[in-house]
Amino acid sequence: MGSMASEPMIRKERLPVIPQPARVEWLGGELPSRLLEEVICDVPDADVQALAAVIREALADQAGGPGRLPVRVERASTPAPEGYSLRIDGGGARMRGSIEGLRHAWASLGQLLDAGDTLPHVLISDAPAFPHRGVMLDVSRHFMPTPDVLAFIAELARLKFNVFHWHLTDDQGWRIELPRFPALTGVGAWRPGTLIGHADAPGPPAYEARPHGGFYTQSEIREVVAFAAGLGITVIPEIDLPGHSSAALAAYPQYSCHCRPGDVWQGWGVRDHVFCTRDESLDFLEQVLDEVLPLFPSPLIHLGGDEVPTTHWEDCPDCQAVMAREGLQDVEELHRYVMARLARFLQSRGRRLAAWDEITDTPPVPAGTLVLSWRGTEGGVLAARAGFETVMCPASHVYLDHYQADPAGEPLAIGGLSTLETVYSFRPVPPELEPRHRGRVLGGQANLWREYMPDTAHVQYMAFPRLHALAEVLWSPQEGLDFADFHARLGRQLPALTRRGVRFRPLDRPG
Ligand SMILES: [Zn+2]
Repeated sequence: MGSMASEPMIRKERLPVIPQPARVEWLGGELPSRLLEEVICDVPDADVQALAAVIREALADQAGGPGRLPVRVERASTPAPEGYSLRIDGGGARMRGSIEGLRHAWASLGQLLDAGDTLPHVLISDAPAFPHRGVMLDVSRHFMPTPDVLAFIAELARLKFNVFHWHLTDDQGWRIELPRFPALTGVGAWRPGTLIGHADAPGPPAYEARPHGGFYTQSEIREVVAFAAGLGITVIPEIDLPGHSSAALAAYPQYSCHCRPGDVWQGWGVRDHVFCTRDESLDFLEQVLDEVLPLFPSPLIHLGGDEVPTTHWEDCPDCQAVMAREGLQDVEELHRYVMARLARFLQSRGRRLAAWDEITDTPPVPAGTLVLSWRGTEGGVLAARAGFETVMCPASHVYLDHYQADPAGEPLAIGGLSTLETVYSFRPVPPELEPRHRGRVLGGQANLWREYMPDTAHVQYMAFPRLHALAEVLWSPQEGLDFADFHARLGRQLPALTRRGVRFRPLDRPG
């Protein structure tokens, strides 16, 4: 301890915390972490008390030995939303901030406890670089049981993510119980089998003839939303429309063009089985949304809008009649019409549309839309320049269904290559975006598409530690990002994942 106290106050070494805090002042000295034994919290707020209880329980697990030092939990206003301070010295630990900030303070202290038996004397002053720090999880291509979803969200909170984008519907399964429309899950939550191997493999496709499916009951949805809220994470649901809808249309084929019967898809890719645009179909979608909205307090509701083949619209008399009635020149304008109508519907319910960046292909983008730019950052740049808020999630950097190393040594994935360093090199604000528009880039998110991730352990393997890299990119000051330093700190955090039973790709495997 004495040798540390004699070192200079400012050191090059960083705290073993991910994401790296915005500012760390080294006070000299250190504290055996087991001395932290009690929590002092006089804040009457129920959320703060709940956090204090979590900290108390965590300390009880690791405390031991003589001496008693407190963790003081205090509410204080901070200049930045989600900001906090955390001071560790000979008197214990003291965290200050709003409830959001205090949760992040605990995430930092928890990581310091995970990283070793001693805590350095430091003063951390921290706040995020971006307000939207998200992760999207696809539970349609493969279902994930509720306890695993909760555990996954808990890991996101430890990395200071604040958005969980829940991709609940797609061609391969409808995962949200809506009692008014029982067939959505009764039919749409199950498929008879699943494609074996890669969708692009040569030869005729083969299917494993084992039913796959599942769905979340209303009470499970509420449990997930409340659990996430308690960790400072907003759940944004995605109901993918009007494409990626085979599962819903298998349940209610009367809302497809020509009322074509359909099936819950056993394969992967993009399918032309989409919702018809006649009023009855769009009315149905609005009725579905009226069942979905009460489950999710999020102001943003994601309605997809991506990858919509228009072949059925082109030869559907109902769709052609809608185009004539609305004065639309082509089916691309018909796509815009659908999204604009649903955007207005959400607005009438006090919500905002979030959609994939296809929505920028046929301007104008509906008022108030948040654009998630996945085909690159171009859609987000277009959106920001046009006055819209955007979140960057380019497939080139943050699609975690891509390989993370040489495919020869990795489990089957969709393709691509996004190494840990690729993810760490992601910057949400593209350099070509003019400074006056940059504030509209709210942040970024990773997308976990699950065609080739059949179970939770596989999801964890693809997610971690690449999500550690993204967490730092979205939180820490951009000018201080340093992959080598991040990599060194990562080595001290990964054993805690093992202790919690979370799988990850080891750092020492060849990249
Ligand atoms: Zn039609």
